[in-house]
Amino acid sequence: MSKHDQTYQIPFASLDNGQHSFHFQVGKDLFDRFENDELHKPDLNVDVLLDKQINRLKFSIHAEGQAEIQCDRCLDYFTHYFNLDQNIFVRLAEETNFNLNTDYVTLDRESQSIDMAYFIYEIIVLSLPLKRVHPVDENGNSTCNPEVTKYIDGESEPSPSNESEDETETHGNEAWKEELIELLNKNKSKNGTS
Ligand SMILES: [Zn+2]
Repeated sequence: MSKHDQTYQIPFASLDNGQHSFHFQVGKDLFDRFENDELHKPDLNVDVLLDKQINRLKFSIHAEGQAEIQCDRCLDYFTHYFNLDQNIFVRLAEETNFNLNTDYVTLDRESQSIDMAYFIYEIIVLSLPLKRVHPVDENGNSTCNPEVTKYIDGESEPSPSNESEDETETHGNEAWKEELIELLNKNKSKNGTS
């Protein structure tokens, strides 16, 4: 995206050393920016506390709110709640490198401001559970769409046992019946002879 979005900019250069706080209202625009449509109706409050020191910036990010995400099981959307805390350490250096797999990221020392969008986006998206399923209610029952789970339970729950017993189910049924008949006959003849 070529459009330079100012929404999540923190103009740190003009600030005194010390602590400064910022607030961002995060909605769909942030996720659109990264072409991510996993989250529906995202609504998060993000507080950023900047601790500015010479040549380094520490951002303490707190994100709280909700979004709707799709359930892996019934495919309906359910509300997922976020309550996240993450620190980002930035050093002013020769060039900008926002690689979050390192202890700190670097920002071109000539920069006047830093765009927090990527950091906020990453913190939210990385917190999403790998397995996304409707939560259970207070009685421990699934809150999945019952119309869908009725179908799923009927269709797929016997399938693990079907898979393991597939051979005996399809080919084995007749053989087993024959075996049973044989066994019954044996018993009959045994009873008959004794
Ligand atoms: Zn569900």
